Amino acid sequence: MIVECPHCHTGNRLEGARLAESPGCGSCHQPLLAGMPIAGTADNFADLVKYSKVPVVVDFWAPWCGPCLSFAPGFAAAAEAYAGQALFVKIDTEAQQALGAQYKVRSIPTIAVFEHGQELERMSGALPAGQFKAWLTQFF
Ligand SMILES: [Zn+2]
Repeated sequence: MIVECPHCHTGNRLEGARLAESPGCGSCHQPLLAGMPIAGTADNFADLVKYSKVPVVVDFWAPWCGPCLSFAPGFAAAAEAYAGQALFVKIDTEAQQALGAQYKVRSIPTIAVFEHGQELERMSGALPAGQFKAWLTQFF
């Protein structure tokens, strides 16, 4: 799969089995999967869910969606606070329409949590940052 570095936006080719090894970016050497949300795509998302050893927290959003944009800082803060405890992925449903359809996303933002390849929980609508962080603790 290809994972774009959230820091320098270089595409990194990654084997699924390496997800648990906290890989660094080949270009800027910062952590590829921890501390900042990564972009979920049709290319990488199935493998991320399949191979991640920690829960995968997904924010289905779109650039034109006001509540999505106001929720984004809270999602990023949670990615920083829970670095290594969960993998935070943002899926732009405008750019990745096939994924939005596959996961039957009807309203945005939708937050979904996957573990061991299965969807555990889903929530629609933007929570305040503090409530979102508290909500997430049930998965750790
Ligand atoms: Zn990088």
